[in-house]
Amino acid sequence: MGHHDLRNKYGPRDLRVRLEAEGLPRTTLSFYRYVRLQEVGTLRNELYQEWEALGVLGRIYIAPEGINAQVSVPTGQLDAFRAALDAREAFANVPWKTAVEDDGQSFLKLAIKVKSKVVADGLADDAFDVTNVGTHLDAASFNRKMEEGALVVDMRNNYECLIGHFEGAYLPKADTFRGAIEEVVVALRRVQRDNDQDILLYCTGGIRCEKASAYLKHEGFMNVGQLHGGIIDYARQIKAQGLPSKYMGQNFVFDERLAERITDDVVSACMQCGTKSDRITNCHEATCNMLLVQCEACAAKYADCCSPSCMEIHQLPIEAQRAWRKGRSTRSTKTKAINDPESLRQRIREEEEMLALNGTLHPSVALARGEDAPELTNVNRQPATRA
Ligand SMILES: [Zn+2]
Ligand SMILES: [Zn+2]
Repeated sequence: MGHHDLRNKYGPRDLRVRLEAEGLPRTTLSFYRYVRLQEVGTLRNELYQEWEALGVLGRIYIAPEGINAQVSVPTGQLDAFRAALDAREAFANVPWKTAVEDDGQSFLKLAIKVKSKVVADGLADDAFDVTNVGTHLDAASFNRKMEEGALVVDMRNNYECLIGHFEGAYLPKADTFRGAIEEVVVALRRVQRDNDQDILLYCTGGIRCEKASAYLKHEGFMNVGQLHGGIIDYARQIKAQGLPSKYMGQNFVFDERLAERITDDVVSACMQCGTKSDRITNCHEATCNMLLVQCEACAAKYADCCSPSCMEIHQLPIEAQRAWRKGRSTRSTKTKAINDPESLRQRIREEEEMLALNGTLHPSVALARGEDAPELTNVNRQPATRA
């Protein structure tokens, strides 16, 4: 079979019809491993043939540094899939995690992509051994080490830590993995009592800690542990074993839900009014779409938007919104957050003042709607209070 055959050939509609017609119960699972892989192009094609024959769907990244896979497997083929993985030394006994909520429709096709890295982290991997990872810890050991005085570090991006984190964890300010790890190295050198003090890393599902722990070991840190399976599996373990949760609040997740609650603690405040809240949401104005923590009252007050300016656009008739968006890019990413609530509140105050003066924050939009707004003849002049 030529390489051109080793990819999906159908459109999304056909794929959905095929999946529904198939009617097989499916199990969604994920796994990853940092491991040196040779000739990844050839490996990719072999995996594609093997897995396609088993009816596997999903999104898989392979790179010289390892594999990161999320797949949906016909439940009747799980044993065969396990055997296919174990038959390859690089993937033998790789632990996989099964999705808890699963409608079997998580993937429509099989896509295996060759990448330079399985996680885009901006680190120079050649400089350190990515397979020399930290000790994997289960929930009970992680808790025990915390009680014994370990330093705990959150390896997620700043916006993910907003609404929940481990008690007393160091929360990096950086909004990229690379920025966070560099920041962590500096912070640990400052606060670590001595080189024997345990360092505990955690992230959402565990993969980022694989790389981060290897990097910290390369930087000379000795006792580096990592939460195996991440917060997601920690939550499952504490529930199953009746352990106390040292993670407080919600876990940020990368799907429609945005968050899943781990404990009832509320560790954050509404970015607009400052009251205690961990309701995370996106600004509903499509070109903004910024993540923010917003209480119910502010959501009502600002029509689910981050600011009066976004609210004004969001409340226009749909046609006028479309016209306004023309030429502006709509941000579909859910991964940009407001990170300075104080300046957001300042901006809201200023916008509210302007609004009171002019009746609009978007004069051109108001004009296009043919509104009677006499002060708009002076749109280029700053309002008197700001002159
Ligand atoms: Zn509020
Ligand atoms: Zn907004």
